[in-house]
Amino acid sequence: MTDVVIAGAGPTGLTLAIELARRGVDVRIVDRAAEHFPGSRGKGLTARTQEVLDDLGVADEALQHGFRHLPHRRYVDGDLVAEDDPHAQRSPTPDRPYDGGLLIPQWRIERILRARLAEEGVRVELAAGVAEFSQSADSVHAVLDTGEQVAARYLVGCDGGRSTVRKALDVRFEGESRAQAMLLGDVELDGLEPDAWYQWTVRGRGFLALCPFRDERSWQLQAVPLRDFGAEGGVPEPSLPYFRRIVDDLAGGHGIHLSKATWLSTYRVNVRMVDRFKVGRVLLAGDAAHVHPPAGGLGMNTGIQDAYNLGWKLAMVCSGAPQSMLDSYEEERLPVAAWTLGASTEGLRRVAERFVDGGSADITDGAHRDGQQLRLGYPSSSLSVDGDAGNGPRAGDRAPDAPCVDRSGTPRRLFDAFRGPHFTLLGFGDSCAGALADAAHSRLIEPVSIGAPGSGADLVDVDGHARTAYGVTGDTLVLVRPDGYLALRAPGASTTAVPDYLNRVGVSQIA
Ligand SMILES: Cc1cc2nc3c(=O)[nH]c(=O)nc-3n(C[C@H](O)[C@H](O)[C@H](O)COP(=O)(O)OP(=O)(O)OC[C@H]3O[C@@H](n4cnc5c(N)ncnc54)[C@H](O)[C@@H]3O)c2cc1C
Repeated sequence: MTDVVIAGAGPTGLTLAIELARRGVDVRIVDRAAEHFPGSRGKGLTARTQEVLDDLGVADEALQHGFRHLPHRRYVDGDLVAEDDPHAQRSPTPDRPYDGGLLIPQWRIERILRARLAEEGVRVELAAGVAEFSQSADSVHAVLDTGEQVAARYLVGCDGGRSTVRKALDVRFEGESRAQAMLLGDVELDGLEPDAWYQWTVRGRGFLALCPFRDERSWQLQAVPLRDFGAEGGVPEPSLPYFRRIVDDLAGGHGIHLSKATWLSTYRVNVRMVDRFKVGRVLLAGDAAHVHPPAGGLGMNTGIQDAYNLGWKLAMVCSGAPQSMLDSYEEERLPVAAWTLGASTEGLRRVAERFVDGGSADITDGAHRDGQQLRLGYPSSSLSVDGDAGNGPRAGDRAPDAPCVDRSGTPRRLFDAFRGPHFTLLGFGDSCAGALADAAHSRLIEPVSIGAPGSGADLVDVDGHARTAYGVTGDTLVLVRPDGYLALRAPGASTTAVPDYLNRVGVSQIA
């Protein structure tokens, strides 16, 4: 029997498959589509998602293919009214190495993730969607589109907004579907320099945006052609001739000629989420569990982070941890999904207002206060335990980075120590020695002592960035989860805090 079958090889399913495969879980990832998705669709990675990719070992590759700083050039009624880079003020800090969003087409992210998954020996099975399934107390039996019958210990539906898995589970998918439509596509064109994200608003006629991608011939086209809207808010079928007409109508005079369309689509706003992420041995993640407006660019990011939250827990359960470990997945991610729906809906409202009042609408105006998702966390989770009253991040908060050097003087960041499938126990100060020595016997934990120059610690906190980032004043233990959030803070001398924690969350028997 396979450990886990993942339905859907979008960004969510691929991230989950990597997380499981790199922990030795026997996983199959099947997709209904006959070919990999070709469109640029979700084209923004938040700083937090870049940190996830860093842990998976593919952040550098994504950076090579993305724009970190691309000005937005905005026209209203034909006049250039603004040009600015929304990330201009951002720069990396010691605790946050990825300073802002990365513009990169979704097909490229998926290709990078597929290549990473292949390194673990797992390939996506195409034209093999999950058609139906049933579950018992011990297993799930799925029937694929090919007719193949598959028995697995768990099934995860990462099969997008129209999820077959979700529908079969009969969970609620509360929310609303709106009439508002947007045209979307990838086009090749002449007449524009790929040096900005061009955005045109023409009062009463609509909105058009053309976004280039680094080292690619294709641009993403987004259009809201108000004049073509039907009574129900619908738009004509997308086609290259129709896209050309929209460009002439909204951006005529720029000499833009669309030569080719490699992807054509219509997008309708849906704001919905499930009330459960898990029913028995079947779980939901990504768009299968929550869909929302593209404002703020959170969909793919939230799906990747669902998978990142679920992956290590599901792997532990497959290794013998109790199934209750999976309850924390819903406990932690359901509030994030609810927050994301609210933030993106509010963002859409702001963007729509700008269209209506004819202001210098910027398609990313919908971005919200925590647009980079660095402040999202799980402080109220049953997996978060605060046993020390430091001033820094609390249990459940994101674990910050810090530049240090190793014993040989080679630069080594905390993120280098976190990278991989393990928990990391950071020990600040000499009295942590006992807890670190005990943790060295655990299969789950990598112990790392942090000290001043000359202390002989694993990592030397040369400039004090690590102590500052963690708000450490006295000797302190910080247990960091495999997905980069603080599990526990405890006094350095405590040799019981970590075993108690593992016991409490039910993984001591596999530690
Ligand atoms: C205009 C636009 C802009 C966007 N911008 C952003 C952005 O900047 N940032 C961002 O984070 N997000 C953005 N998004 C959202 C993003 O594209 C989605 O949230 C993301 O694709 C969700 O990933 P997923 O893996 O959960 O689902 P999907 O990408 O939808 O993947 C689901 C997969 O499941 C497969 N499948 C379907 N049924 C079955 C079945 N029964 N069995 C097996 N496989 C099945 C499908 O073929 C597909 O490959 C944008 C979306 C749009 C439309």
